Amino acid sequence: MTNLKNVLSGNLEKLIYEDSVLQRLEIQKRILVTGGAGFLGSHLCELLLEAGHQVICADNFSTGMRQNVEHLKRFDGFRLIVHDVVEPIDLDVDEIYNLACPASPPHYQADPIHTTKTCVLGTLNMLELAARYGARIFQASTSEIYGDPQIHPQVESYWGNVNTFGPRSCYDEGKRCAETLLFDFHRARQVEIKVVRIFNTYGPRMRPDDGRVVSNFIVQALKGEDITIYGNGSQTRSFCFVDDLIDGIIRVMASPASLTGPINLGNPAEFTIGELAEQVIELTGSRSKIVYRPLPVDDPRQRRPDISLAERELGWRPRVDLSAGLAQTIGHFDALLTQSDRELMEVA
Ligand code: NAD
Ligand code: UDP
Repeated sequence: MTNLKNVLSGNLEKLIYEDSVLQRLEIQKRILVTGGAGFLGSHLCELLLEAGHQVICADNFSTGMRQNVEHLKRFDGFRLIVHDVVEPIDLDVDEIYNLACPASPPHYQADPIHTTKTCVLGTLNMLELAARYGARIFQASTSEIYGDPQIHPQVESYWGNVNTFGPRSCYDEGKRCAETLLFDFHRARQVEIKVVRIFNTYGPRMRPDDGRVVSNFIVQALKGEDITIYGNGSQTRSFCFVDDLIDGIIRVMASPASLTGPINLGNPAEFTIGELAEQVIELTGSRSKIVYRPLPVDDPRQRRPDISLAERELGWRPRVDLSAGLAQTIGHFDALLTQSDRELMEVA
């Protein structure tokens, strides 16, 4: 694994890792990434393969896409398994990144019972595997743990304000139960855990029909369709570019065993949804107009991570600001839409 620093730098926009992170990355491992064909998972698989690891991507393709991982087949160490994490699996691995779960509200609400099963049974299955093989496990938890937060910005010590029976509960409560399972396996069975609360992350490889706000606005703007703001657009989110988040995930996994989390990863720059719409219109040069639609039930009013723990323990902070990240994401969707237009014209 020579030139690892260069490989990682090339992939993640000149990020330079400290020696302690590199040392852990340099030991070749067998790594299971659940949800590896999704938006975040595919970026993670790519980075781990480039660092020389063997990567098994297990995905049920409910929201993941084959084209996200097609280019990874060139790596000898890459294996793709069509598998639903709700069912147990037996794989001898050194590390597990548990990302399997639809993340977009319309997708996780489409089959809410399966979403809860994915969060709870899926995580349980991964923890049993971690306990059996002594594997370190990373859990993709979420800012939704905080629900509609009454503390702002959100610190890890805040217990949250979550509805147990609303349409978002399958995801929020599922992910909360998953955190409980991780800490109980850690205490009762000494499993090494890393629990990360991811805040709204965006970037290339999101689906055009993902349904989350950044992809919706960009696709609408590029197609000249109305931009749909839910509510009056005064609710806030803090948007993290994917490269920054993957950098944080790698750092967490390489940190000492004593750092279990929960730990927030996200970009603390906070925007209203109205401001996001304006930025997308400006950057795309679109003539789309903004329309207002009803606010979904239990939509959080505000969200911003307190990242002091990640800054202190990992030396991590996001580097890509919203306009730079949006520009890259717009480029991705522009290419995708041009390609599908071309394919449609060929069929016609
Ligand atoms: P995504 O929907 O693009 O990816 C999820 C992947 O998991 C998909 O490939 C999907 O097919 C797969 N999957 C879903 N259910 C599965 C199951 N039962 N068995 C196997 N595979 C399954 O979403 P994403 O944005 O890449 O999110 C990845 C993880 O990160 C999720 O666990 C999500 O909860 C968490 N997360 C993401 C964000 C974000 O802003 N992107 C924020 C907080 C948490
Ligand atoms: N949103 C919006 N228009 C859209 C999609 C989402 O105004 O087309 C709003 C949504 O109501 C929420 C915010 O944007 O207030 C972020 O939504 P997203 O689904 O991306 O993430 P989450 O609500 O899970 O943070």
